[in-house]
Parts: sequence; structure tokens; C-alpha cells
Amino acid sequence: MDLIVVMKSGSAPDDLQRVADRIAELGFKPHISRGEFRTIVGAIGEYDPEARQQLEQLPGVDEVMAISQPYKLASREFHEADTIFDVKDVRIGGPNVNIIAGPCAIESREVLFDVGKAVKDAGASILRGGAFKPRTSPYAFSGMGKEGLELLREAGAALDMPTITEVMDPRDVSAVYEFADIFQIGARNMQNYNLLLEVGKTDKPVFIKRGIAASVTELLMSAEYVLSQGNHRVILCERGIRTFADETRFTLDVSAIPVIQERSHLPVFVDPSHAAGKRDLVPPLALAGIAAGAQGAIIEVHSCPDRALCDGPQAVLPKNFQKLMQQIRQLADLVGHRVSDPGRNTTNK
Ligand code: PEP
Ligand code: MN
Repeated sequence: MDLIVVMKSGSAPDDLQRVADRIAELGFKPHISRGEFRTIVGAIGEYDPEARQQLEQLPGVDEVMAISQPYKLASREFHEADTIFDVKDVRIGGPNVNIIAGPCAIESREVLFDVGKAVKDAGASILRGGAFKPRTSPYAFSGMGKEGLELLREAGAALDMPTITEVMDPRDVSAVYEFADIFQIGARNMQNYNLLLEVGKTDKPVFIKRGIAASVTELLMSAEYVLSQGNHRVILCERGIRTFADETRFTLDVSAIPVIQERSHLPVFVDPSHAAGKRDLVPPLALAGIAAGAQGAIIEVHSCPDRALCDGPQAVLPKNFQKLMQQIRQLADLVGHRVSDPGRNTTNK
């Protein structure tokens, strides 16, 4: 069991150095994370009550905690209350349910704006669209790149919606930072640690999708990489895992939602689209996720799925999305949550 030393806000650099030196003298390995609001020093090693007492007495120290999980900053032991934060006008986490919707990929101005308007009208609070697409085949459409990012920014501004898009390469982090409000880390990159460190150094929220063969603990360790760099705005997403069941694209692990929420304070979303792989299965899986307590869903919508350049078979039509939103609202109420809908003024503000 390791120790975590939380420094007082406004503590002096000398205090921090003294704490790090003392941790090393006590036989632990110090790890400093400087956040926007507070600085934390991890003391990695065997739990020792005396070491804890000694560290508690050093100047500038606010609190010393013993944390049993391998993930520290992501754990409920470290932070008991749900993490809640705002992205533009949208409040994420806690009792707030946010629906992210849009096309899988940004394909054209027309589709992005059409779908964007439809999902906004239906009550989605965040607009999705991929400009860099991770494809199983190197010959498949891999996204519009920078041009796509520009369209996304334009659509987000026109519709007054925060935007989310996937970043696949640490070298693209600064470009994506300029154009989108939330970084999406795809399932295939969940353990791309250099990418996680890079987005962790920014001040924009990071949406991490569970890898197709990753355990909940591994997902939380990925969150820890981002948190360790001082970025505390992380969202986790269950998007289906690989099992023997082949009727669906992946198997949505609904149980992961309450399991993660028990272990972590971070908001948990569900992605029914990639789990299902088929549009008819998207509504029941989305509802299952919301009923299990997910604090949001990310749903692929397309106005003309037959022509979609990516993931057409799982894209729901705008009219079906609208119906699904009504059901999500009712179900969210039933579990003590509420759907954020800035357009309808029902956010928790
Ligand atoms: C996506 O959201 O379009 C996507 C590629 O998702 P995942 O990384 O979960 O496969
Ligand atoms: Mn997709």
C-alpha cells in the first residue's frame, strides 16, 4: 500500500522538495504531480504508519493517505465524491447525464451540420465526429484529418455545442487541442501511454474508451496516467469487449459501469454503438447503460447511413435518435439522474 501526500495549496517549492527528500529517505520512491489546483506527491513503497506520521508533520503538507489500489488519483479512496466538471456550458458527472452524438467520422460539411443540428434538437449536449479514424484495414477511409477538425470546430460553434474527437498520435495533440473541446482516446489506444501522458499535460478533458481486451483495473490505470500529469478531467467509457459472442460486434459489459463507479470517482459513459455494431441494438444497449447508472452515452447518428464512410451499419437515424432521447430522459429520472440539455435549460446549474 502506497502513500499519497497532498500538499496545501500555496505551499512553497522548498516544502515540496523537503517532502520529496523525506519520502526518499524513508525508503519510498517519490512521484510529484503538479496539478492546476494542488500538488500531490506519491510515495511508492510498503505502507509504514510511522512514515505516514512523519510526513504529516512536514510544513506545507495538507494530508497523507494510504491507498491500497494500484490506481491512486483515480480511486474513490483518494476522492470520495463524484468528480463533476464543466465543459463550456455542459456539466459532466455526478447526477448529470450527457449524450454525445454525431457521425462516426467527419465526412463532409453537409453531413456533419445536418446530423449535428438533428442531435442538438433532440437533446444531445456534445457533438462527436472523428477526423483521425483508427481502421482495422489500412485501405479504409481514415478520416479527413485537419480539414475535418476545422469543420468540427465550425459546427460546434454554429450549434453552440462542445465537441469531442479522437486523437491517435501524441504528435497531433496540440492540433486537436486547438480545434476540439474534449480529447477522445480510442479503445485501440487505451494503453498508448505516451499519448495518455501528452493529453494529461493539457487542460482539456480526456474521454478514455476501454480497450477491447482490457480489464477495469487496466482502464483505471490508463486514467491514472492522465491524472498523474495534473489533468483531473477524465471520463471513462465502456464500449464493449471481445468475447465469444459473435451476434454483436463486441459484448457490452454493463456490469463494468457500477464496478467502475464503486472504485472510482470519475464519470462513466457507455458506448452502445461500437458494442452493438447494428443500429437496432443501439437503443436497448444505450438504455441498459443508463439504467445501470452511466453518466452519459456516446451514440453514432447518420442522416444517410447507407452512404456513411465509416460504421454505417451501427448509425441510428435522426428520428430514431430523437425517440431514444425521450426514453433516456425518462430512464435517467428513474435512477435519480437527469439529462443535461442546455438548449432546454434543464442542466444542474
Ligand atoms: C469511435 O468512437 O468511432 C471509435 C473508433 O471507437 P472505439 O475506439 O471504441 O472503437
Ligand atoms: Mn465509429
